Amino acid sequence: MEISKENFPEWYTEIIEEAGLVDKRYPVKGMHVWLPYGWKLMRNIDDYFREIFTKYGHDEVYFPLLVPETEFKKEGEHIRGFENEVYWVTHGGLDPLDVKLLLRPTSETAMYPLFSLWIRTHADLPLKIFQIVNIFRYETKQTRTFIRMREVHFFESHTAHATEEEAEEQIRENIEIWKKVAHKLALPYVLVRKTEWDKFPGAAYSIGAETIMPSGRTLQIGTIHQYLQNFSRAYEIQYLKEDGTHDYVHQTTFGMSERLIGAIVGIHGDDHGLVIPPEIAPIQVVIVPIVSKNKENVLEEARKVLEELRNNFRVHLDDRDAYTPGYKFYDWELKGVPIRLEIGPRDIEKNQVVLVRRDTFEKISVSRGEYVEKISSLLKDIHKNLIVRSNKEMFSRIKEFNSLDGIREHKGIAVVHWCGSEECGRRIEESTDKRIIGIPFEKKPGKCVICGKETDTLAYVAKPY
Ligand code: ZN
Repeated sequence: MEISKENFPEWYTEIIEEAGLVDKRYPVKGMHVWLPYGWKLMRNIDDYFREIFTKYGHDEVYFPLLVPETEFKKEGEHIRGFENEVYWVTHGGLDPLDVKLLLRPTSETAMYPLFSLWIRTHADLPLKIFQIVNIFRYETKQTRTFIRMREVHFFESHTAHATEEEAEEQIRENIEIWKKVAHKLALPYVLVRKTEWDKFPGAAYSIGAETIMPSGRTLQIGTIHQYLQNFSRAYEIQYLKEDGTHDYVHQTTFGMSERLIGAIVGIHGDDHGLVIPPEIAPIQVVIVPIVSKNKENVLEEARKVLEELRNNFRVHLDDRDAYTPGYKFYDWELKGVPIRLEIGPRDIEKNQVVLVRRDTFEKISVSRGEYVEKISSLLKDIHKNLIVRSNKEMFSRIKEFNSLDGIREHKGIAVVHWCGSEECGRRIEESTDKRIIGIPFEKKPGKCVICGKETDTLAYVAKPY
């Protein structure tokens, strides 16, 4: 790495290219090619989504990419929210299509016409499904790898319930799932309720999981939406109740995306490169043979180590002949592999290996008899350390303000009292040149920073990506 993390935007751009996550040279703006290392990382996260959502009773589905204009136009607010950013398919070959098709910007309008066929009676509820797909949004703002893309690798869960209470219970469950995802990825976050003018188009309310990047800007890395009956009325998703009457279902969704990787890169990385959380790392342990003389002997021993560790960890032996151990150290540090295992002639004599942590660079010699356990406990320690240090860093950037002075310059989240009116909210945003990224669940008595009215509502003010 040439660039220090102090210089965050340049550092972020460089690290993604050098670490081999994606290739940005694809000739369509806002779309990149996932390289093997980056795709393995994304797939490990996807695998965890599958595991956790399946555990919570969701089934995986896969809907078509194209949505007919006629279905898209059914929910008014939703259209207004997305009409400026959808890609249209207007022709089949040379023939104009009778009904234009759009590339899904999210899948409500693809799924819900089918929901109205699938759901007949209360016995069909709750319906809980998810899919992991690409979505397309014609972003006009500056695109940024993983953070603001025109093709996005996306996770979405959709549920339908008989009653509002059950839909509310689903929101609580979604928050519980989010907490597990964030823990797995060692990502710090705060949960907020979005403002009325910033909620998902068509939602009754939206909850965002927000984190703070080293630039001081916030990044929304998870969203949970309560739709109540807003979509089911538009898409005629009714069910027969036990008492013989009909009612519309209540719906929720939960979305996450490749932004999670943007957060991992930005939050955990350092001047040496990426630092990948062990639980999702494509490679957890990289074996680097220290070879100068006795080369065959060392390589043979390194292969034995690989065999011994393979059942317990995702492990890779770097036996590339063309590179020196020093170059390999540099290369794997850049890729953020949690543990480097060194083995050389002296280690073989002593029946030991050397382990180096990526997060702290601490070096430990450990005997071959104990090293499986030691690696296991080190990976856990690294995970814990990443959580502790990233939380400390993030919360140090959340600061209370009694007036608007200084908020514009603050690199992070400014916390202010807000009466909740749109008028005062807009004035907070305009005078700070920032956004109210949401309202924290925590309440605290005080006075609105604009009108002075007594309130116990707080607002988080920041510059979001
Ligand atoms: Zn006010």
